[in-house]
Formats: sequence, structure tokens, C-alpha cells
Amino acid sequence: MARPDEFTFIPLGGVGEIGMNLSVYGLGDRQRRSWLAVDLGVSFGDEDRLPGIDLVMPDIGFLERERKNLVGIVLTHAHEDHFGAIIDLWPKLRVPIYATAFSAALFAAKCASERNPPEIPITVVASGGRIDLGPFNVEFIPVAHSIPESHALAIRTSAGIVLHTGDWKIDLTPLIGKPTDERRLRELGDEGVLALVGDSTNAVREGRSPSEAEVAAAITAIVKQARGRVAVTTFASNVARIRAVADAARACDREVVVVGRAMERVTQVARECGLLDGVRAFRSAEMYGHLPPDKVLALCTGSQGEPRAALARIAGDDHPQVTLNKGDCVIFSSRTIPGNEKSVGSIINALINQGIEVITDRTHLVHVSGHPRRDELREMISWVRPQLLVPVHGEALHLAEHAQLARDAGVPKVITCRNGDLVRLGPGDPAVIDKVPSGRLYKDGFLLEGEKARAVAERRRLSFAGCVFVAVALTEKGELADDPLVDLLGIPEKNAAGDEIADEVFDIVVATVENLPRARRRDADAVSESVRRAVRAAVAEQWGKKTLCVVHVLMV
Ligand SMILES: [Zn+2]
Ligand SMILES: [Zn+2]
Repeated sequence: MARPDEFTFIPLGGVGEIGMNLSVYGLGDRQRRSWLAVDLGVSFGDEDRLPGIDLVMPDIGFLERERKNLVGIVLTHAHEDHFGAIIDLWPKLRVPIYATAFSAALFAAKCASERNPPEIPITVVASGGRIDLGPFNVEFIPVAHSIPESHALAIRTSAGIVLHTGDWKIDLTPLIGKPTDERRLRELGDEGVLALVGDSTNAVREGRSPSEAEVAAAITAIVKQARGRVAVTTFASNVARIRAVADAARACDREVVVVGRAMERVTQVARECGLLDGVRAFRSAEMYGHLPPDKVLALCTGSQGEPRAALARIAGDDHPQVTLNKGDCVIFSSRTIPGNEKSVGSIINALINQGIEVITDRTHLVHVSGHPRRDELREMISWVRPQLLVPVHGEALHLAEHAQLARDAGVPKVITCRNGDLVRLGPGDPAVIDKVPSGRLYKDGFLLEGEKARAVAERRRLSFAGCVFVAVALTEKGELADDPLVDLLGIPEKNAAGDEIADEVFDIVVATVENLPRARRRDADAVSESVRRAVRAAVAEQWGKKTLCVVHVLMV
């Protein structure tokens, strides 16, 4: 029997995968629960598996149906995997959004850069502040991460407290913002925490992550040694890193030139929020050519190999203002997100082929992750002392490692779940007690498609199997009115014997139609289906691959 104040958790994204985070907390009994959503993020499409899909987001059908019980959306921080789906999905929900000032400002700047800027209000909450949302009281606890103003959320209810860590790490010298608030987290532990729902990204990595300050020192040392131009690429949202690069430039008497729209946008928002106070003004890309090589440092977008971003264009000698030559140096102050290795690799190779020195985190401490390694995870557990730990923000391996670490650290209960699971946190034994509809949506052009939509699956098949188009015109008597038309798209022209595949297909189409009993030839669907089967079999025999086939039958 469900208690009236049952506290539940449903991940609708971000569990069993890294990206598209959406967590939902519920309070109430089975008949009526109030819901609170945390984050609403995207993942990036995989070009091979999802051709033409740049963004993937959680299917929020469940929240749409529960909209009247949804008290709001709270954002932990402004990374795309936590807030990137708001512009597309918020119109389906239209509930209040809460975030701290920098996240709200970055979101406003992002909206303003859209072709049709949407009007989506965000209520600003102070870092460290608390708000009441229905039966939930939410406290924003500062944590260090790779973007300013990341927060763990202490969600208080009549059924207990949940600490939703968001993305975090321990960094005593984060360069910007406050270190992870150990004191507050310990106090929470004293108060008693029902469940810790926590970041598992780096649960497979031993030890603790280095500090931003160490990265800053490494970058400064490299820039000091450089004789020619220096370009640094990093995630635009990593304002602490931008500050580190600016400090390095200043120490070496170089001016920072900002290259790329995302970088311009974030640096402007960061200045408005006071995060770059004391940092010398940056110059625009137009100034680049006017500065001597040893007096300039270009801060560029494109660390993930994005083909239209600044660095790819510079490497391809295709940037209107910024060029690099033999002897110049490029620092990748970033990690390559899985899936982007090829595009990043080709940029690195293009640069090296031009005699440009490339420095990455493989050989130098020019980047550090914003997520907690194992010692940090243990430390968080020791501060918060939760009754239950639920690993999130990770692939299956990360979740399993985080779960085992928590058991080893003495957490009484650990539950691993997947997107769509309804988890009872308490009171009573924690368990997965139900399933709600979940899934993903693809942003295809400016449309949102369900993951079972045909278009993407068809494009994927087209991309490796091509298509045959056949048009057949039949008379009233069921005879061919004219030669069938055959077109091949994405299929080799000739078979191994050197014969035109299109000719072979043509012959098969004619033979198939003529072999059909006359009565069947008056049934357009039957003709179409027979021709389609025959063509696919014929192409498979000629080519060794099954193609798509579209047949049009006209009765004339
Ligand atoms: Zn994240
Ligand atoms: Zn993050």
C-alpha cells in the first residue's frame, strides 16, 4: 500500500547513457503525485547511426500528460546535456523554470541567437538559495564543475531529503566560483539524507581530478615557450578555462582574440555576470592580422572538430581573419567527446601537416574533467552519509562501478535503474516499483521525430544500401504500355562481369510483370510488391547487398 507521502524518482534521460539529462521527482500516492523536473538536456546525434540528426532529446510524453501536477523545472547548470532541450520541449510543458543567474543569462543569450527567438521565462534563484515548489523545497548548493554556477540540489520533502548532485567535482582552486560546499553538504548529512542521486561519469577513474589551477599553470608554461602564434580551443562554456587562457596570455604579453560565435556569446555573458572581472578586454577576430605573431593568442571554438566552427576553418585555411603557419602552436584544452574522434583527428592531422605544433591532454595537463573520480565520490558519500544511493549520469559501466563503490563505502542501500523506471526512494524499502513511458526524440531539421519514425531508419538504410526506383505502366489488358523506367541511386553501375546493373534490373522488371497471371496484373499493389521483391533479389545477386526499392505502377 503506497503511503500518501511516497517520495519517488524517475529518470527520463541520462541513465544508461551520457547526455539528455532529465530527472523527475514525485511526492504523493499512486493516484496523485506532484512532480518536480530537474534539467532538460540533449545528446548529440551519431552521424553513422542517425544520419542527419544533430540533437537527441528525451521523450517527455509522460510529463506532458502529468503537466498539471508538474510544479516546475529546476536547472543544475547550463551545459547542453542539462539545458539544451528547453527551447524545443518547454513549449509542450509551459511550467516555470528556475536557475541561477549565469545559467539564466546564458540561456537568454542562446534564445537570442535563434532565428525566431523564443520567449521562455526563467526565474533566477540565488546560488545557495532555497525555493518552495509545491511540496518540494529546493536548495541550490554550489559545486565545482567545468562551467560556472553548477549546483547540487537538496530537495526537501515531508518524506525526507534527496541530494541530487548534478555534475560536480572537488576542486579547491576552481579559478571561478566557489569550491564544492563541503560544509553545507556535511550539515545536510547531519540532518539526514534519504537518498543521494549522483554523477557517475568518472566512476571508473581512480584517484581525484586535478584542479583548474594546475591546468592554468600548464597552459601558461606552454604559451611562455611559444615563439609564433598560439591558438587555444576549449568548450566555450568553460569560463574558468577561458580565464586561465587569458591569464596565460597576459603573463606572456599576448592579446586574446576571440574567434567563433559561441565563444563571443559566452565571454560576453560571463563579463556581464562579473565572472571575468579583472581580465583584460578581449579583441575581436578583425584585430588578429594586425598583431605580431608573438603578441597574439586566438581563443577558438571547435574543440570537438565541428566542421563549421573556428578551428576547423583555420586548419582548412578557410577562415577570413585567422591563419596559422609553420611554427605556430595549437592547444586542445579539451577532451574529445566519444563519437567526435574522427573529426578532431582530421583537424589535428591537417594542422601537423602544415608544420603546426599540436598539444593535447594526452601529453600535457591542458584539460581536466569536471566530474568526480573515485576518491571524490567516496568523499561525497562520507559527507552526506545517505541511506540510499542511486547512480545516474553515466553509461551502464559507470553506473555499475558507482553502485559498487557506494556499497563498498558502506551505503546501506543502492539502486541502479534505467530511463523510465519509477523508483521508490522512501519511506519503506527502496525499489523500482513501476515503469513510465520514456524514449527519445530526434531533432530532424526543425521537426521533432519519435525514435521509431521511419525517416531516420530509411536514411540510415539509404546511406549504405542505396535505392532502386521503378515505374511500370500497364494497359487495361494488363500489358506493359511502355518500357518500365529504372533508376538506381547509390548503387554501383556495373556488376563483377562488367554488365550494367540497371540493364539487369530492367530485364527482371519486364520478366516479373510478364510472368504474373493476367488477372493479377490489374492489381497495382500485387504488381508493385512482386516487382519490388524481384528487384531486391536481383540487386542482391549482382551486388551482394540488399537495396531499398520503390515501385510505382500506373494503370493507363
Ligand atoms: Zn552533464
Ligand atoms: Zn555539466
